[in-house]
Amino acid sequence: MIELEALTKRYGEKVAVNNLTFTVRPGIVTGFLGPNGAGKSTTMRMVLGLDRPTMGEVRIDGKRYDQLKDPLTYIGALLDAKAVHGGRSAYHHLLCLAQSNGIPKSRVAEVLDAVGLTAVARKKAKGFSYGMGQRLGIAGALLGDPRILMFDEPVNGLDPEGIHWIRTLMKSLAAQGRTVFVSSHLMSEMAVTADHLVVIGQGRLLADTSMADFIERNSRSYVRIRTPQRERLLDVLCEAGITAVDADGGALEVDGGKPEWIGDLAAQHQVVLHELSPRQASLEEAFMRLTAESVEYHAHTGAVPVPDEALTASARQAWGSDWKKGA
Ligand code: ADP
Ligand code: MG
Repeated sequence: MIELEALTKRYGEKVAVNNLTFTVRPGIVTGFLGPNGAGKSTTMRMVLGLDRPTMGEVRIDGKRYDQLKDPLTYIGALLDAKAVHGGRSAYHHLLCLAQSNGIPKSRVAEVLDAVGLTAVARKKAKGFSYGMGQRLGIAGALLGDPRILMFDEPVNGLDPEGIHWIRTLMKSLAAQGRTVFVSSHLMSEMAVTADHLVVIGQGRLLADTSMADFIERNSRSYVRIRTPQRERLLDVLCEAGITAVDADGGALEVDGGKPEWIGDLAAQHQVVLHELSPRQASLEEAFMRLTAESVEYHAHTGAVPVPDEALTASARQAWGSDWKKGA
């Protein structure tokens, strides 16, 4: 378990991490989502004691990182692929890590096998491809057989096979009862990986919710309509008890409606339609909306807000404030 309590990091004027409080629980994959610059890496560095909080604290199974004896046996992390290497072989890199953390030598061969690097174990790591470097970093994270694992944007720059491998690995680690905390700036990646979702923007907590809940709230279907007889259609829909809202480009949107009903109704009343299309609000839109709010909130920082026109009316409507925490 990782517990963050009012965690804050300032770099001069810049507040990189702003009063974050949340818990990362065992047995599931927790996704840490936020646009570039949101403060994900800074938060993860503070979890590992690599960066000092300005305020607040992090507990790893109840202890601060610097209170852990042989920390690699509690928490393993992949932060930055560049952090590994030098002229050492993959085997020697891991052996050194093992020896300085009281981990048996036999474990090195085990993790090399687990990440598929056994065949190149004696080769110098600096000659590794990016994907092999990531695998070596993950081998290091797994070395101490820790109950907690943390990965910072692990699929960035990987090919589809590497991405699939990492997703499968994270899920299997969680299924073993471990705590898995993984960051990404892509909603689509989190949607297929994470069971729980923590969203941040501008260093602030924007959501702390189960993935299932997030999907349920944000993947509603709606019907998009365009008509040259807008007022007429609105009257007809209103009489039928159907609520339509304005959308971009002068279109209308009906939540949860069926195109058949609306098409039949329009035909009965001789209303001309130029468009009648079933749509699905995307999770990406939901994520954009959520983080755009945080940007607007901090408009004085000079950040550029995501324009509202980029969002559908139904995505706009979807935002209840009830599930927003922290802001
Ligand atoms: P993310 O990982 O979500 O992309 P980061 O944690 O890397 O975000 O960065 C959060 C913010 O803090 C950014 O605005 C970044 O420029 C700033 N930042 C990060 N590290 C430093 C540093 N060492 N000195 C000054 N500013 C920093
Ligand atoms: Mg980062």
